[in-house]
Amino acid sequence: MARINDNFLKLKAGYLFPEIGRRVKAYNDSNPDKAAALIRCGIGDVTEPLPEAAREAIKGAVDELGNRDTFRGYGPEQGYDFLREAIASNNYAGLGISADDIFVSDGSKCDTGNILDIFGPGNRIAITDPVYPVYVDTNVMAGNTGEADENGAYEGLVYLPCTAENNFAPALPEEKVDLIYLCYPNNPTGTTASKEELTKWVDYAKANDAIILYDAAYAAFIQDESIPKSIYEIEGADECAIEFCSFSKNGGFTGIRCGWVVAPPGVTGASASGERIPLRQLWSRRTSTKFNGASYPIQRGAEALYSEAGKAQVSELISHYMENARLLCEACQKANLTVFGGVNAPYVWVKCPEGISSWEMFDKMLNEAQVVVTPGSGFGSAGEGYFRISAFNSRENVEEVCQRILDNLA
Ligand SMILES: *Cc1c(COP(=O)(O)O)cnc(C)c1O
Repeated sequence: MARINDNFLKLKAGYLFPEIGRRVKAYNDSNPDKAAALIRCGIGDVTEPLPEAAREAIKGAVDELGNRDTFRGYGPEQGYDFLREAIASNNYAGLGISADDIFVSDGSKCDTGNILDIFGPGNRIAITDPVYPVYVDTNVMAGNTGEADENGAYEGLVYLPCTAENNFAPALPEEKVDLIYLCYPNNPTGTTASKEELTKWVDYAKANDAIILYDAAYAAFIQDESIPKSIYEIEGADECAIEFCSFSKNGGFTGIRCGWVVAPPGVTGASASGERIPLRQLWSRRTSTKFNGASYPIQRGAEALYSEAGKAQVSELISHYMENARLLCEACQKANLTVFGGVNAPYVWVKCPEGISSWEMFDKMLNEAQVVVTPGSGFGSAGEGYFRISAFNSRENVEEVCQRILDNLA
């Protein structure tokens, strides 16, 4: 008899997106005449074509592989030096991060989940609420939690509520924690953390010997120069933080798959006997054992995003999505809705009108405006009373969504 990992049975089986799918299907089935008008602003996936610089580099690399003299097989598990160096010098210039600290991967979703391989049992784990569900579910799978309660909150996790009342800046945990997941710019709230706010977390981590797992997948969307794009802009973070980043959202790589982890040598954890071990050493070992590297053409494609042409194309993509976000914020405000985010992030986090729940608002948007949004409560109980509109869309769709918000909600 093969025993399963019983922790999987604790998972609230992918409740959010299947439920959205179910309601959208029910709507389409009973309103076949309106189904074509439906606009999806739910899932956070990019919509605009892959930048030309990346396409050309990928094609060129494929051709190299078609030639005996330039053929390559397995690459380095941690990534090719050309990409690790490009990441270090472009994303972390002046921050003391070297190419050796960078581990190239096939995306941040896997990395933020896989990182738990290098941590032992018994850690106290803090996550923000609302949250990107990957952090929670991977901890459940790893056995770091108990059962979920009726609100979907797991026993054993320390939830840090982020609401309008605290300006989406979670308070430091009252109890001592060992691992802290932070995501800025934030998915789902679209809010950012100031230098002071991040300094508070780094100081906490250093004082409590905790590790910050910092997800910077949306860093490229930061428009305001004063907001840190990397946790390593904070003094001392190179002793307590691991950063995750990705080409998915800035370079349109969600289908191409490439991201990276930053693990500076000064970030350490304790062994059972109390010895300090650099986490980088464990992550490197884990990577060599369980991963065989992101594909060569894809790494060339990612490198090309840092060329002059690539940078200009990425910047155009970001401008496109950020203008979408601006239009969505403006339309919501005109409809007397209170909005958060959408300024340094591609998500607009909207307060539901008084007395209307997240799912009621979802239904209202679906039935009255034929627009699919994401109910805030799906990201955690502190998301109740909010909904998320994604700015990842064509301009045409966004303009239509804005019009429908004005027609139906104002
Ligand atoms: C999209 C996203 C990522 C990136 O995921 P990939 O696997 O690199 O596509 C990471 N974190 C958050 C919060 C995201 O929304």
